[in-house]
Amino acid sequence: MADSKENTNKDCGFATRAIHAGQEYDQWSNAEIVPPIVTSITYYQNNPAKMECHFYSRMSNPTRDSLERCLAALEDSKHALVFPSGSAAVTALLHLLESGDHIVASVEQYGGTRLLLIDSAKHQKMEVDFVDSQDVNEVEAAIKPNTKLIWIETPSNPCVKMSDIAAIAKVARSREGIIFAVDNTLLTPYFQRPLELGADISMYSCTKYMNGHNDVLAGALMFNSTEFLEGLQMVQQKYGSILPAFDCSMLNRGLKTLSLRMEKHCENGVALARYLEKHPKVVSVSHPVLPSHPHYELAKKQTTGNCGLFAFRISGTVYEAKKFIQSLRIFASSGSLGSFSSFAMIPVCVSHTSLTEAEREKFGIFDTTIRLSVGIENVEDLIKDLEQALDKTFK
Ligand SMILES: *Cc1c(COP(=O)(O)O)cnc(C)c1O
Repeated sequence: MADSKENTNKDCGFATRAIHAGQEYDQWSNAEIVPPIVTSITYYQNNPAKMECHFYSRMSNPTRDSLERCLAALEDSKHALVFPSGSAAVTALLHLLESGDHIVASVEQYGGTRLLLIDSAKHQKMEVDFVDSQDVNEVEAAIKPNTKLIWIETPSNPCVKMSDIAAIAKVARSREGIIFAVDNTLLTPYFQRPLELGADISMYSCTKYMNGHNDVLAGALMFNSTEFLEGLQMVQQKYGSILPAFDCSMLNRGLKTLSLRMEKHCENGVALARYLEKHPKVVSVSHPVLPSHPHYELAKKQTTGNCGLFAFRISGTVYEAKKFIQSLRIFASSGSLGSFSSFAMIPVCVSHTSLTEAEREKFGIFDTTIRLSVGIENVEDLIKDLEQALDKTFK
């Protein structure tokens, strides 16, 4: 459990917090500079009549504690809790609701979360309505007397479309008892601050940029409410939704370079978007740095950068799209995102298969739409790679 009282780096910048918050060497018996991976699930109790701070790892673990304090410092939140995946974090969040409650959720969001919401609603006897959260009026119109959660993901994947967090927060505030939660996986607290914009909970799949190294599945929830803390810790403890100490250590290490990585993802992504925009075989580029993007203005207001994930559409058919992906040498054909290495994929074939054709078109996803998750390699090499793959595809 992370507590703001312990955040001794409150006046420091993001990178300093990522490196120092929760990492104090005097909390460890050998003054370790790197937080040890505490694998012991139980702890000797000096006083058998009173359990001390740590006594069983489903309740708390020193490695996890250190990570959660670092995460809370990055979000400027009172509390941060980690879970074994982003999906497990959403599952925990849904335990704050009760049967009969109603959820308003973004229609354009991570497919796994969409299915999770539908499934949970069925099993927990709740209702869920999916709306276009890019239009705040649609969110407002969907609210019912039993609405308990507004759940949005912004920006969306792959076309980086945005919902106005501050405007939706205002709608949520105008009714009593609504929890407003934002999936901030894509931008991380480095580029977007949902709690400062009025959200109650910031959620992350730390599997992506937060860890950034393709080797940990993890999730996190950041928030200020003590009531949420009790409810969410109950899920960790009663349901055993626990991130193992080894993975906590890996994620804690990943956070140390988060600011550097995000800067580079952003810089490389912008360079590639500008390059592709001018290519004769590229029909359109969906990147918020380009004035042609529908949320160019909102992006400037709400975010301080982009993560390098964006989409573009090439000429031809799905045949050309496949040929293009197969011709890439540095970009790997992969369905994931948020890694130091660059990935490319075809959303209609991989991530957005469950959508109808009408939904896809509304989201701006076509047969030849390519999604890039731009890594932190040398940008000239990435441009050359796209160029040779486009040449090969259309020769
Ligand atoms: C990957 C992802 C998730 C799910 O997270 P897991 O760690 O894979 O469970 C949720 N939301 C977004 C935006 C994601 O990219």
